[in-house]
Amino acid sequence: MQTAAPQKIYLKDYTPPAYLVDSVELTFKLAPTTTRVLSRIAFRPNPDAQSRDFFLHGEQLKLISASIDGVSITPEVTATGLTHTVPNAPFVFEAEVEISPATNTALEGLYMSNGMYCTQCEAEGFRKITYYPDRPDVMSVFTVRIESDLPVLLSNGNPAAKGDGWAEWHDPWPKPAYLFALVGGDLVNHPDRFTTMSGKDVELNIWVRPGDDEQKCAFGMEALKKSMKWDEDVYGREYDLDIFNIVAVDDFNMGAMENKGLNIFNSSAVLASPETSTDANFERIEAIIAHEYFHNWTGNRITCRDWFQLCLKEGLTVFRDQQFTGDMRSHAVKRIDDVVVLRAHQFREDNGPLAHPVRPESFVEINNFYTVTVYEKGAEIIGMLKRLVGDEGYKNALDLYFDRHDGDAATIEDWLQVFEDATGRDLSQFAKWYSQAGTPRVSVTDSYADGTYSLTLSQQTPATPDQDKKTPMVIPVAVGLLNDNGDEIVPTRILELTEATQTFTFDGLASKPVPSILRGFSAPVILEHDQTNAERAFLLAHDTDPFNRWDAGRTLAQDVLLQMVREDATPDTAYLDGLLALLRDDNLDPAFRALALSLPSQDDTAQALVDAGETPDPTAIYRAHEALTLHIAQHLQDTLPRIYADMTVTGPYAPDAVSAGKRSLGNRMLSLMSKLDGGKQASQQYATADNMTQQLAALASLLKIGKGADELAAFEQRWHHDRLVMDKWFGLQVSCAAPEDAAKVAAKLTEHSAFTMKNPNRFRAVFGALKGNTAGFHDPSGASYDLLADWLIKLDALNPQTTARMSTSFDTWKRYDADRQTKMKAALQRIDKTPNLSRDTTEMVTRILG
Ligand code: ZN
Repeated sequence: MQTAAPQKIYLKDYTPPAYLVDSVELTFKLAPTTTRVLSRIAFRPNPDAQSRDFFLHGEQLKLISASIDGVSITPEVTATGLTHTVPNAPFVFEAEVEISPATNTALEGLYMSNGMYCTQCEAEGFRKITYYPDRPDVMSVFTVRIESDLPVLLSNGNPAAKGDGWAEWHDPWPKPAYLFALVGGDLVNHPDRFTTMSGKDVELNIWVRPGDDEQKCAFGMEALKKSMKWDEDVYGREYDLDIFNIVAVDDFNMGAMENKGLNIFNSSAVLASPETSTDANFERIEAIIAHEYFHNWTGNRITCRDWFQLCLKEGLTVFRDQQFTGDMRSHAVKRIDDVVVLRAHQFREDNGPLAHPVRPESFVEINNFYTVTVYEKGAEIIGMLKRLVGDEGYKNALDLYFDRHDGDAATIEDWLQVFEDATGRDLSQFAKWYSQAGTPRVSVTDSYADGTYSLTLSQQTPATPDQDKKTPMVIPVAVGLLNDNGDEIVPTRILELTEATQTFTFDGLASKPVPSILRGFSAPVILEHDQTNAERAFLLAHDTDPFNRWDAGRTLAQDVLLQMVREDATPDTAYLDGLLALLRDDNLDPAFRALALSLPSQDDTAQALVDAGETPDPTAIYRAHEALTLHIAQHLQDTLPRIYADMTVTGPYAPDAVSAGKRSLGNRMLSLMSKLDGGKQASQQYATADNMTQQLAALASLLKIGKGADELAAFEQRWHHDRLVMDKWFGLQVSCAAPEDAAKVAAKLTEHSAFTMKNPNRFRAVFGALKGNTAGFHDPSGASYDLLADWLIKLDALNPQTTARMSTSFDTWKRYDADRQTKMKAALQRIDKTPNLSRDTTEMVTRILG
């Protein structure tokens, strides 16, 4: 069967909706395979519309009946929606449809997870619930009635009424359909309250299934209250309903969803306990709770006109959650963590076939554009704006934004206009950050004469798909200067690079300074700065900017790795000595020291080789990483046990930043020690650990040296009942496997009785880890490529969204040698040729193949 070529949608084709919705009333009669949805929608012609065509989206719906103003109609129904002739005046459309949540494995629309009904409507899932103008610029007031015997029935807004077998909810705030949510289940709540800045009392609940999960809500609740307070203190934003509900769901495609007043969370993004969650889990949960809560203003009260504007809500909300985490924990550590993620994932995306602007210009399936570029680069753009206009300018602009656009479905133009109006700055060139894809390269040369230091910066952005020619961007480059003693002689200053090449001068200097460039990672660019290892070691020892201090070590490590890959060199002692000095510096935050001791990822090293015009060999990169790790362990040998002991945290476990930082450095010591002691210390830590952070780190250390079989079995024995912990058990075995074993280990795990591809977390545990095991994924046999392709083909029939997302594992295929390219291409083509492949996966595979 030949299906029609998927339709591309273009930003430039936007037209306003023909009809607006004043109110919508929905009644749900819940039943696993025969849920009935009754809708009553008050439409009104949009005075700004260019057409009067009436079209309602609707997919996989069984239409039972429909009427207009009480008169029964037989609309024209297609696979994507319905049309009918309607009055050129306000009218009421009513319909009844039938849907089957129990067989909905795509986890989009209304579906069931462990006996619980739940919804996921962003971006275009509401059309799988009923006929509706499913676009974010149609905002309406929703009233919802749920009929079911299940004890807990939830929807958006405030509770209106309830009785035996039914509940009604009313959301006074007009919203687009993608923010609709419904939950029905046998659930218990972890309750709390919050008093807002104007003294309003808000009921808070985290809802979970009865059992173990009930003990895992307290941390999430504290995070929620901190988020509510922070948004009041920092952005002046108050919560606007009587109740805020969070529900934990086991089967979920993403992290969480900001539905108005009823956030739905992947259980991995909200449930936490010391015994079952790592420090990293706690931090991630705190950030995601904050992120979804912050969407109430940046996303819900002000939403997006169309899906091309996705970064308007996501970039800003990520930026806000990053600020929040920095305030709660450590700004320096958070910045480094964020840049590690940005470089590993967003730079990778920007450098490959999937590169796209932060505001894309076209898409086939919008679900494929919930990307690191839209989210993380989108957040970087906000950070640059703030740097350019200053804290005061940023605050004024945000106040104006909330003031001017509350209740709107807005655009990036609206957003930039607010900054122009609030600060008087012309942002027309800056706007290119939204439309021009690819990571700019900024190269540096310098000179010194007669007391004047000159810094010449040049920018160049490589071609990306559909964008051959690039023009200069506005790049804020934060620079500070140090003298030979390591004293800061010129404090941080923002240089605004707006042309292809520009020279900046600093006068009155007694000698040639050492520059510290791109402090705080002031712009999402690749810095090309030919420094000697000695200069980098100097910055690693002295830079006053913590980000650049860390980055000097990182660049040094990358150079060392490249040398080792190319010529089997032994690592430069300047680097090893630098690490030792840093490790011994007890004045430095342990979390920072742990980060400074970590190496660039093997994928980063591969990209660095590509940038240097070479073909990376993942096996050689793996060996270099292993060898360097061993060199580091040997060089630091005498200090490791001392620091390991110093990092002992006494008292009951707490996930705070200070304790977590100590554990992080301690566990870094442990993994290095295990390279030398055969895993003695790790076995001991495993045996005595009273929290998941210590237990998992010990297990990882053992697995990485080919030990830990007994511990692995004991771990399974102890945790087999806990889905989230078992995800760790699945993932760790794959990520710690030797490259030649990775595919075998993953394949074997798919035969485990607890493996299921219906649960995205479990699928990702195995196959996300396989992608992350760079040398294992790219093992020359091609076994991992074949295995992943097999499973993506199987999963696509059930869950297109997660399949499409996981297909990005192949997006670096053009980097590699002919043999690997052939094998990866064959895997991609095999996926592409699958009969009835989803639109989601078809688009991704087509773009990756290029
Ligand atoms: Zn978001």
